[in-house]
Formats: sequence, structure tokens, C-alpha cells
Amino acid sequence: MDKRDITVKSPEFISHIPVIQDLIAARETFWINPYYRSVEKLHGPRREIDLSNILDADERLRRFAHYIVKAFPETQPAQGLIESPVIPIESMHRYLESHYGVQIPGEIWLKCDNYLPVSGSIKARGGIYEVLKHAEGIGISQGLLTTEDDYSILINSSFRDIFSHYRIAVGSTGNLGLSIGVMGAQLGFKVTVHMSADAKEWKKALLRSKGVEVIEYTSDYSKAVEEGRRQAEGDPHCHFVDDENSRDLFLGYAVAGLRLKEQLLELNLRVDADHPLFVYLPCGVGGGPGGVAFGLKQVFKDNVHCFFAEPTHSPCMLLGLATGLHDRIAVQDIGLDNKTEADGLAVGRASSFVGKIMEGLLSGAFTIEDEELFRLLQALDRTQGIQCEPSSLAGMAGPARLLRCHEGLQYLRNHQLEDALEKGTHLVWATGGSLVPKEVMKNYLFRKK
Ligand SMILES: *Cc1c(COP(=O)(O)O)cnc(C)c1O
Repeated sequence: MDKRDITVKSPEFISHIPVIQDLIAARETFWINPYYRSVEKLHGPRREIDLSNILDADERLRRFAHYIVKAFPETQPAQGLIESPVIPIESMHRYLESHYGVQIPGEIWLKCDNYLPVSGSIKARGGIYEVLKHAEGIGISQGLLTTEDDYSILINSSFRDIFSHYRIAVGSTGNLGLSIGVMGAQLGFKVTVHMSADAKEWKKALLRSKGVEVIEYTSDYSKAVEEGRRQAEGDPHCHFVDDENSRDLFLGYAVAGLRLKEQLLELNLRVDADHPLFVYLPCGVGGGPGGVAFGLKQVFKDNVHCFFAEPTHSPCMLLGLATGLHDRIAVQDIGLDNKTEADGLAVGRASSFVGKIMEGLLSGAFTIEDEELFRLLQALDRTQGIQCEPSSLAGMAGPARLLRCHEGLQYLRNHQLEDALEKGTHLVWATGGSLVPKEVMKNYLFRKK
């Protein structure tokens, strides 16, 4: 059966879930996940992804580091690992307290995926990983590469010639296309990006300048993915990066958990029962934040508490989780238009693959209005001199929102976190922005409210 045939069959069922009324009204809301469980209780024999898969992905990225350094010299300081800094944001902390009128105990730090090399967004984690894994697979299957080799040989024209016989395709609201396009083109692949209507002009132009084929749609993200998938199916030499279902994308994102553990150790930031870690991640289809949160749960177990943030007009993951319907319900089914300036989050139907994995692991989710994203964008620029694109700010309201609402406080009480808050860390995950052209950024920064 086509999943799109299933509209909201039982309005009574849906409307009995309290948070749904807020979603329907496009009101900002904060939801605590009633299905959240201790990580240990979730360990079962049927889990399809575990820590060993993440370690495998991490090793693969390390094999590619010699190549990445050559292809993207800006990764030299991190020796070819595509990683971003974690920084304290004390001035923004004070702004958030006064802006939201709530005290936020503990420290607030920013994970700066907006500064990720190569493609300037969180998509540099999953997207690039999947392209590299695909390239490795081709190299090995043709007998031209072994995992013992120094992968910098991939820069040679002989490899580019081989990859030029293959195509990579992807459907995207912009940033995933950028990651796949930049990495794929660099290796020599032919790349096709199916862009949804939300995609910003500059992202399409940048891709075209790299020789990437950009196909534009007047419809939203789900349609662009569907069309891309359909076209790729007819071509045996085409690999479709499936943002709604890809295990490789997910694993690429999940490596962030291992990396963050190292970074926090270096910074002397402890995470244990007395030092809880709260992480706030902007969510679109779910792969990025889901993969990262999954990795974090593997590493920090019950001492990390993950929250997703979505625009009030595109709360697809919250809707899928709260109803348990996952991809069998879209925001349009409850009367929302899926229109948001946060293009990276303009997704109406969540990934069920991710939703099912996160069902018991996610602490909660909240929605945020576009206008608030711009307020936070401007405040982060003013207080810390850090510039992000609108999507990237969705998590920023998290610490205040958690502490300001009854449900959030109840969560802290239920998990005996109230006393530990003072020694805890809030980590806001910034997800994109360093490639935004100056003129576009100016519009964000001087946008009238
Ligand atoms: C894609 C994206 C996200 C969300 O990732 P999903 O995998 O779509 O959930 C968040 N922020 C930015 C800037 C993005 O491009």
C-alpha cells in the first residue's frame, strides 16, 4: 500500500494526544517522550545498529583521512578528520536567561557544526561518509584498492576516471545536496541533486559551479526524494543516497558521539550521573540529529539527554513519534503548510527508520517559530560573533524551554536531575552556516521583525 494513501484515519485518536493540539495550531510546544527508556533496557537481540557499526564507520573515516587532507587542505589541522569545535557561549547564556526570563543552571556550550569543513553543515558528517564508503566499495570491488592502502591515491586521475562512470543522486532541501555534490564531484563522480522548492538559490548555484546537475522541484522535500529515488532505480550505475532510509548516512552522523567524547575529555567536561549532558539538536527528516543522538547514547548512556527541535510549521518527527505513526503521517495531514525559513528543517514527513530507532532513546522534542530563530540568530552574532543559518538555531532555545515548562521540570524531577543541573552541561548543536554568502547573511542579520 502506498503510505501516502493513509491520511489521518482516526481524528479522535490523534486529538487525544495533548501535544497534537499545539502542533495543529502551530503553537510552540515542548513534548516529553513517554516512550523514553533507560538505554540498558533497550538492549535487545534485534537491534539492527550498535556500537560496533559506529566504530567501523569511524575506522573507515580514518582510512580516508590521508585523502581528505589532500583534497581539502583546510582539514589539515585535524589531520583529515572533518570535525568541528566545541566552545563555551557564556554571553549567549546570559542572553538566553534574560530573553526567556529563566535561570539556566550549568554551562551552555555550542557544538559548531556550522564550521564543519568541506560543506559547512552537519551534513558533512553523514553525506560525506556515505559517498566515501561508496567510493571505497567500488575501488575494492575493482581490485584497485585495499583497506591497507594509503587512501591518498584516490586523488589520482586513474580513480577519477573510474568514478566518472558512476553517478550519485540525492534528494535534498539544500545542505545534503551540497555535501554529496562537493564530495562526489571531488572524487570524480557524476552527481545529480534533486532539490526541493525550499532550497536556497545560492546552494543550487554553488553546486552547479562544481559541475553538479541540479534538478529543481516546485514541491517539497518528500517529493524531491521520491522523484530522485525513482529516477535512480532505472540506472544500475547510479547510487541513490536515501535520506529517509540510509543506514550509512546514519552511521556517518553517529561517529560524532565518539568524537564528542574525546573532545569533552580534552576540555575537562565531565559526563556522568552527577554531571548530566543535555543536547539540543535541530531536526528535519531525522537522520542527522538521530544519528548524532544515537552515537551519544551509545557513548554516554543514560547520562545524556537528547532533545530535537523543529519549526512550528514542520514538526514531522514530533508528530511521528507522539502518534507512533512515524512516516504514516505528515504535517500536511494536520493542516500545516510545511513552510519555514529554516530550509534544512523543511520536512513534512519524518524518516520511520530513524523514528523507530529513536523511539526509546529521545528524551523529548520541541517546536520553535521562525521569528524566534531569527532573534536567536541575531543574538548569537551579537553576543558571540558566531554566524549561523536559521535552521542551525533551532536547538538554541532548548535549555530555557526545558527549564521553563511544567513537562520539562517534571522530566528533571523524574530522573533525579534537579540537583545535578548546577554541574551539568547544555550542548546546543549548531548545524550550518559557514557557507552562507555574505549578502544572504546580511539579510538574516538585519531582518526586521
Ligand atoms: C539537514 C539539516 C538539519 C537536520 O538534519 P536531518 O537529517 O534532516 O534531520 C539541521 N540543520 C541543518 C542546517 C541541516 O541542513
